[in-house]
Amino acid sequence: MPAELIDGAAVAKKVRAEVGERCKALAARGVVPGLTVVLVGDDGGSAVYVRNKEKASHEVGMNGATIRMPATTTQTELLAVVDRLNADKAVHGILVQMPLPKQIDPQAVIRRIAAAKDVDGFHPVNVGKVLIGERDGFAPCTPAGVQVLLQEYGVETAGKHVVIIGRSNIVGKPMAALLVQPGPGGDATVTICHSKTPDLAWHTKRADIVIAAVGRPGTVTGEMLKPGAVVIDVGTTRIVDPSAKSGMRLMGDVDFASVSQVASKVTPVPGGVGPMTIAMLLRNTVRAAEQAS
Ligand code: NAP
Repeated sequence: MPAELIDGAAVAKKVRAEVGERCKALAARGVVPGLTVVLVGDDGGSAVYVRNKEKASHEVGMNGATIRMPATTTQTELLAVVDRLNADKAVHGILVQMPLPKQIDPQAVIRRIAAAKDVDGFHPVNVGKVLIGERDGFAPCTPAGVQVLLQEYGVETAGKHVVIIGRSNIVGKPMAALLVQPGPGGDATVTICHSKTPDLAWHTKRADIVIAAVGRPGTVTGEMLKPGAVVIDVGTTRIVDPSAKSGMRLMGDVDFASVSQVASKVTPVPGGVGPMTIAMLLRNTVRAAEQAS
Protein backbone atom coordinates (compact mmCIF):
# COMPACT_ATOMS: atom_id res chain seq x y z
CA MET A 1 0.00 0.00 0.00
CA PRO A 2 1.47 3.40 -0.89
CA ALA A 3 2.59 5.56 2.02
CA GLU A 4 0.28 8.12 3.62
CA LEU A 5 1.29 11.68 2.74
CA ILE A 6 2.15 13.92 5.69
CA ASP A 7 0.50 17.21 4.76
CA GLY A 8 2.78 19.92 6.13
CA ALA A 9 0.69 22.71 4.63
CA ALA A 10 -2.38 21.57 6.58
CA VAL A 11 -0.50 21.23 9.88
CA ALA A 12 1.19 24.60 9.32
CA LYS A 13 -2.23 26.19 8.81
CA LYS A 14 -3.36 24.77 12.14
CA VAL A 15 -0.25 26.11 13.90
CA ARG A 16 -0.73 29.56 12.30
CA ALA A 17 -4.37 29.61 13.45
CA GLU A 18 -3.26 28.84 17.03
CA VAL A 19 -0.62 31.61 16.81
CA GLY A 20 -3.30 33.99 15.52
CA GLU A 21 -5.42 33.29 18.61
CA ARG A 22 -2.45 33.96 20.89
CA CYS A 23 -1.78 37.22 19.02
CA LYS A 24 -5.40 38.26 19.63
CA ALA A 25 -5.04 37.52 23.35
CA LEU A 26 -1.90 39.66 23.45
CA ALA A 27 -3.58 42.45 21.46
CA ALA A 28 -6.34 42.53 24.10
CA ARG A 29 -3.57 43.45 26.56
CA GLY A 30 -2.18 46.09 24.18
CA VAL A 31 0.76 43.98 22.95
CA VAL A 32 1.36 43.39 19.25
CA PRO A 33 4.10 40.80 18.68
CA GLY A 34 6.88 42.29 16.55
CA LEU A 35 9.10 40.25 14.22
CA THR A 36 11.91 42.03 12.41
CA VAL A 37 13.88 40.27 9.70
CA VAL A 38 17.21 41.70 8.57
CA LEU A 39 18.21 40.95 4.99
CA VAL A 40 21.75 41.82 3.92
CA GLY A 41 22.51 41.75 0.19
CA ASP A 42 20.38 40.78 -2.76
CA ASP A 43 20.36 36.98 -2.82
CA GLY A 44 17.20 36.12 -4.78
CA GLY A 45 16.29 33.03 -2.73
CA SER A 46 16.70 34.88 0.58
CA ALA A 47 14.55 37.78 -0.65
CA VAL A 48 11.70 35.36 -1.38
CA TYR A 49 12.02 33.70 2.06
CA VAL A 50 12.03 37.10 3.77
CA ARG A 51 8.95 38.30 1.85
CA ASN A 52 7.12 35.11 2.84
CA LYS A 53 8.05 35.55 6.51
CA GLU A 54 6.84 39.16 6.57
CA LYS A 55 3.57 38.26 4.82
CA ALA A 56 2.95 35.30 7.17
CA SER A 57 3.58 37.45 10.24
CA HIS A 58 1.02 40.06 9.08
CA GLU A 59 -1.55 37.32 8.44
CA VAL A 60 -1.48 36.21 12.10
CA GLY A 61 -1.65 39.78 13.43
CA MET A 62 2.00 40.52 14.09
CA ASN A 63 4.01 43.61 13.28
CA GLY A 64 6.28 42.12 10.65
CA ALA A 65 9.06 44.31 9.31
CA THR A 66 12.07 43.82 7.10
CA ILE A 67 15.27 45.86 7.24
CA ARG A 68 17.12 45.64 3.94
CA MET A 69 20.85 46.41 3.95
CA PRO A 70 23.26 46.47 0.98
CA ALA A 71 25.66 43.61 0.23
CA THR A 72 28.55 45.94 1.16
CA THR A 73 27.31 46.26 4.78
CA THR A 74 30.12 45.85 7.32
CA GLN A 75 29.90 43.61 10.37
CA THR A 76 30.01 46.70 12.60
CA GLU A 77 27.04 48.22 10.77
CA LEU A 78 25.02 45.01 11.05
CA LEU A 79 25.84 44.58 14.74
CA ALA A 80 24.68 48.18 15.34
CA VAL A 81 21.29 47.31 13.79
CA VAL A 82 21.07 44.18 15.95
CA ASP A 83 21.87 46.27 19.06
CA ARG A 84 19.10 48.72 18.14
CA LEU A 85 16.57 45.91 17.67
CA ASN A 86 17.68 44.27 20.96
CA ALA A 87 16.82 47.53 22.73
CA ASP A 88 13.49 48.09 20.94
CA LYS A 89 10.61 46.96 23.19
CA ALA A 90 8.23 46.69 20.21
CA VAL A 91 10.47 44.03 18.64
CA HIS A 92 10.04 40.59 20.22
CA GLY A 93 11.72 38.47 17.57
CA ILE A 94 14.84 39.18 15.49
CA LEU A 95 15.94 37.09 12.55
CA VAL A 96 19.03 37.81 10.46
CA GLN A 97 18.59 35.97 7.18
CA MET A 98 21.46 33.65 6.26
CA PRO A 99 23.68 33.39 4.30
CA LEU A 100 25.46 36.69 5.00
CA PRO A 101 28.03 38.32 2.71
CA LYS A 102 31.52 36.94 3.29
CA GLN A 103 32.86 39.99 5.16
CA ILE A 104 30.45 39.22 8.04
CA ASP A 105 30.98 36.41 10.57
CA PRO A 106 27.55 34.79 11.00
CA GLN A 107 28.39 33.43 14.46
CA ALA A 108 29.29 36.94 15.71
CA VAL A 109 25.89 38.17 14.54
CA ILE A 110 23.98 35.23 16.03
CA ARG A 111 25.76 35.70 19.38
CA ARG A 112 24.85 39.41 19.40
CA ILE A 113 21.07 38.84 19.11
CA ALA A 114 19.47 38.87 22.57
CA ALA A 115 18.73 35.21 23.39
CA ALA A 116 15.17 36.20 24.44
CA LYS A 117 14.56 37.57 20.91
CA ASP A 118 16.40 34.81 19.01
CA VAL A 119 13.32 33.24 17.43
CA ASP A 120 15.50 31.31 14.96
CA GLY A 121 16.92 29.39 17.93
CA PHE A 122 20.55 29.66 16.82
CA HIS A 123 22.03 31.60 19.78
CA PRO A 124 24.30 29.40 21.93
CA VAL A 125 22.02 30.00 24.95
CA ASN A 126 19.02 28.60 23.06
CA VAL A 127 21.08 25.77 21.58
CA GLY A 128 22.10 24.87 25.15
CA LYS A 129 18.54 25.14 26.47
CA VAL A 130 17.26 22.79 23.78
CA LEU A 131 20.02 20.32 24.59
CA ILE A 132 19.35 20.31 28.33
CA GLY A 133 15.58 20.33 27.81
CA GLU A 134 14.73 23.79 29.23
CA ARG A 135 11.48 24.67 27.51
CA ASP A 136 11.68 28.45 27.80
CA GLY A 137 14.36 28.52 25.09
CA PHE A 138 13.69 28.65 21.35
CA ALA A 139 14.20 25.53 19.26
CA PRO A 140 15.25 26.04 15.63
CA CYS A 141 12.15 26.22 13.46
CA THR A 142 12.77 23.40 10.98
CA PRO A 143 13.48 20.57 13.46
CA ALA A 144 10.76 21.89 15.79
CA GLY A 145 8.38 21.74 12.82
CA VAL A 146 9.38 18.15 12.07
CA GLN A 147 8.65 17.18 15.68
CA VAL A 148 5.18 18.76 15.44
CA LEU A 149 4.49 16.93 12.15
CA LEU A 150 5.36 13.58 13.76
CA GLN A 151 3.11 14.33 16.73
CA GLU A 152 0.22 15.55 14.59
CA TYR A 153 0.33 12.35 12.54
CA GLY A 154 0.43 10.18 15.66
CA VAL A 155 3.92 8.88 14.95
CA GLU A 156 5.23 7.47 18.22
CA THR A 157 8.84 8.43 18.96
CA ALA A 158 9.19 6.92 22.44
CA GLY A 159 11.46 3.90 22.26
CA LYS A 160 11.70 4.20 18.47
CA HIS A 161 14.93 4.34 16.52
CA VAL A 162 15.31 7.56 14.55
CA VAL A 163 18.07 7.92 11.97
CA ILE A 164 18.86 11.53 11.07
CA ILE A 165 20.95 12.09 7.96
CA GLY A 166 22.80 15.41 8.28
CA ARG A 167 24.53 17.04 11.26
CA SER A 168 24.13 20.77 10.61
CA ASN A 169 23.53 23.19 13.46
CA ILE A 170 20.21 24.28 11.95
CA VAL A 171 18.65 20.88 11.27
CA GLY A 172 20.47 17.64 12.12
CA LYS A 173 21.97 18.37 15.55
CA PRO A 174 18.96 20.21 17.05
CA MET A 175 16.65 17.53 15.59
CA ALA A 176 18.57 14.91 17.58
CA ALA A 177 18.47 17.10 20.71
CA LEU A 178 14.66 17.43 20.46
CA LEU A 179 13.96 13.75 19.82
CA VAL A 180 16.18 12.43 22.58
CA GLN A 181 14.57 14.57 25.33
CA PRO A 182 12.33 12.77 27.77
CA GLY A 183 8.63 13.53 27.26
CA PRO A 184 6.05 13.88 24.48
CA GLY A 185 7.59 13.91 21.01
CA GLY A 186 10.87 12.63 22.44
CA ASP A 187 12.26 9.54 24.18
CA ALA A 188 13.69 8.27 20.90
CA THR A 189 16.92 6.41 20.33
CA VAL A 190 18.76 8.62 17.86
CA THR A 191 21.51 7.95 15.34
CA ILE A 192 23.04 10.86 13.42
CA CYS A 193 24.64 10.06 10.05
CA HIS A 194 26.73 12.38 7.86
CA SER A 195 29.07 12.36 4.90
CA LYS A 196 31.69 10.33 6.76
CA THR A 197 29.22 7.60 7.74
CA PRO A 198 30.13 4.38 5.93
CA ASP A 199 27.17 2.37 4.64
CA LEU A 200 24.29 4.75 5.26
CA ALA A 201 21.77 2.06 4.29
CA TRP A 202 22.96 -0.18 7.16
CA HIS A 203 21.66 2.49 9.52
CA THR A 204 18.50 3.52 7.68
CA LYS A 205 17.36 -0.13 7.36
CA ARG A 206 17.23 -0.29 11.17
CA ALA A 207 15.23 2.93 11.55
CA ASP A 208 11.59 3.32 12.49
CA ILE A 209 11.84 6.96 11.41
CA VAL A 210 14.29 8.40 8.87
CA ILE A 211 14.84 12.17 8.70
CA ALA A 212 16.87 13.30 5.70
CA ALA A 213 18.49 16.75 5.85
CA VAL A 214 21.28 16.59 3.32
CA GLY A 215 20.52 18.68 0.24
CA ARG A 216 21.22 15.85 -2.21
CA PRO A 217 18.30 14.42 -4.21
CA GLY A 218 18.09 10.62 -4.20
CA THR A 219 19.93 10.17 -0.89
CA VAL A 220 17.18 7.89 0.47
CA THR A 221 15.64 5.18 -1.69
CA GLY A 222 13.00 2.59 -0.90
CA GLU A 223 15.49 -0.25 -0.67
CA MET A 224 17.29 1.56 2.17
CA LEU A 225 14.20 1.34 4.40
CA LYS A 226 12.55 -1.07 6.77
CA PRO A 227 8.96 -1.67 5.55
CA GLY A 228 6.58 0.69 7.34
CA ALA A 229 9.22 3.27 8.29
CA VAL A 230 8.19 6.93 8.52
CA VAL A 231 10.24 9.20 6.26
CA ILE A 232 10.67 12.94 6.71
CA ASP A 233 12.30 14.79 3.84
CA VAL A 234 13.85 18.09 4.92
CA GLY A 235 16.00 18.50 1.82
CA THR A 236 15.29 21.21 -0.71
CA THR A 237 17.42 21.41 -3.80
CA ARG A 238 16.48 23.78 -6.60
CA ILE A 239 16.91 22.18 -10.01
CA VAL A 240 16.35 23.58 -13.48
CA ASP A 241 13.06 22.38 -14.98
CA PRO A 242 12.02 24.02 -18.24
CA SER A 243 8.52 22.49 -17.89
CA ALA A 244 7.91 24.41 -14.62
CA LYS A 245 6.41 27.92 -14.78
CA SER A 246 9.37 29.43 -12.91
CA GLY A 247 11.87 27.27 -14.83
CA MET A 248 12.93 25.71 -11.51
CA ARG A 249 11.70 22.83 -9.36
CA LEU A 250 12.30 21.88 -5.74
CA MET A 251 13.58 18.39 -5.01
CA GLY A 252 13.87 16.69 -1.66
CA ASP A 253 16.52 14.19 -0.55
CA VAL A 254 14.12 11.29 -0.89
CA ASP A 255 13.43 9.26 -4.01
CA PHE A 256 9.70 9.63 -3.59
CA ALA A 257 8.63 6.97 -6.13
CA SER A 258 10.48 4.10 -4.43
CA VAL A 259 10.19 5.36 -0.84
CA SER A 260 6.42 5.77 -1.00
CA GLN A 261 6.12 2.04 -1.85
CA VAL A 262 7.94 0.96 1.34
CA ALA A 263 7.30 3.67 3.94
CA SER A 264 4.08 3.95 5.96
CA LYS A 265 4.17 7.77 5.93
CA VAL A 266 6.25 10.27 4.00
CA THR A 267 6.47 14.05 3.60
CA PRO A 268 6.28 15.46 0.08
CA VAL A 269 8.56 18.20 -1.27
CA PRO A 270 7.20 20.80 -1.59
CA GLY A 271 4.34 20.83 0.95
CA GLY A 272 5.93 18.80 3.74
CA VAL A 273 8.51 20.27 6.10
CA GLY A 274 8.84 23.62 4.28
CA PRO A 275 5.54 25.21 5.40
CA MET A 276 6.24 24.17 9.00
CA THR A 277 9.42 26.25 9.21
CA ILE A 278 7.60 29.59 8.91
CA ALA A 279 4.74 28.41 11.13
CA MET A 280 7.22 27.54 13.89
CA LEU A 281 8.95 30.90 13.46
CA LEU A 282 5.61 32.58 14.13
CA ARG A 283 5.03 30.32 17.14
CA ASN A 284 8.47 31.20 18.57
CA THR A 285 7.75 34.91 18.02
CA VAL A 286 4.38 34.89 19.78
CA ARG A 287 6.01 33.06 22.71
CA ALA A 288 8.82 35.64 22.80
CA ALA A 289 6.14 38.35 23.04
CA GLU A 290 4.26 36.44 25.75
CA GLN A 291 7.45 35.92 27.76
CA ALA A 292 8.40 39.60 27.43
CA SER A 293 5.04 41.04 28.51
P1 NAP B 1 24.15 21.43 5.38
O1 NAP B 1 24.61 22.37 6.44
O2 NAP B 1 24.77 21.47 4.03
O3 NAP B 1 24.29 19.94 5.96
C1 NAP B 1 24.11 18.82 5.15
C2 NAP B 1 24.48 17.59 5.94
O4 NAP B 1 24.37 16.46 5.09
C3 NAP B 1 25.92 17.59 6.46
O5 NAP B 1 25.95 17.19 7.80
C4 NAP B 1 26.64 16.59 5.56
O6 NAP B 1 27.67 15.90 6.21
C5 NAP B 1 25.50 15.63 5.25
N1 NAP B 1 25.78 14.89 4.02
C6 NAP B 1 26.21 15.37 2.83
N2 NAP B 1 26.34 14.37 1.94
C7 NAP B 1 26.00 13.23 2.60
C8 NAP B 1 25.93 11.87 2.23
N3 NAP B 1 26.28 11.47 1.00
N4 NAP B 1 25.54 10.97 3.15
C9 NAP B 1 25.20 11.35 4.40
N5 NAP B 1 25.23 12.65 4.80
C10 NAP B 1 25.63 13.57 3.91
O7 NAP B 1 22.60 21.57 5.12
P2 NAP B 1 21.37 21.99 6.09
O8 NAP B 1 21.41 23.45 6.28
O9 NAP B 1 21.29 21.08 7.26
O10 NAP B 1 20.17 21.66 5.12
C11 NAP B 1 19.96 20.35 4.63
C12 NAP B 1 18.90 20.38 3.54
O11 NAP B 1 17.68 20.80 4.14
C13 NAP B 1 19.16 21.37 2.40
O12 NAP B 1 18.62 20.86 1.21
C14 NAP B 1 18.38 22.61 2.83
O13 NAP B 1 18.00 23.41 1.72
C15 NAP B 1 17.19 21.96 3.47
N6 NAP B 1 16.50 22.81 4.46
C16 NAP B 1 15.17 22.93 4.32
C17 NAP B 1 14.46 23.67 5.22
C18 NAP B 1 12.99 23.78 5.08
O14 NAP B 1 12.38 24.67 5.66
N7 NAP B 1 12.36 22.88 4.34
C19 NAP B 1 15.11 24.33 6.28
C20 NAP B 1 16.50 24.14 6.42
C21 NAP B 1 17.18 23.37 5.49
P3 NAP B 1 29.03 16.64 6.69
O15 NAP B 1 28.66 17.38 7.94
O16 NAP B 1 29.96 15.53 6.93
O17 NAP B 1 29.44 17.55 5.58
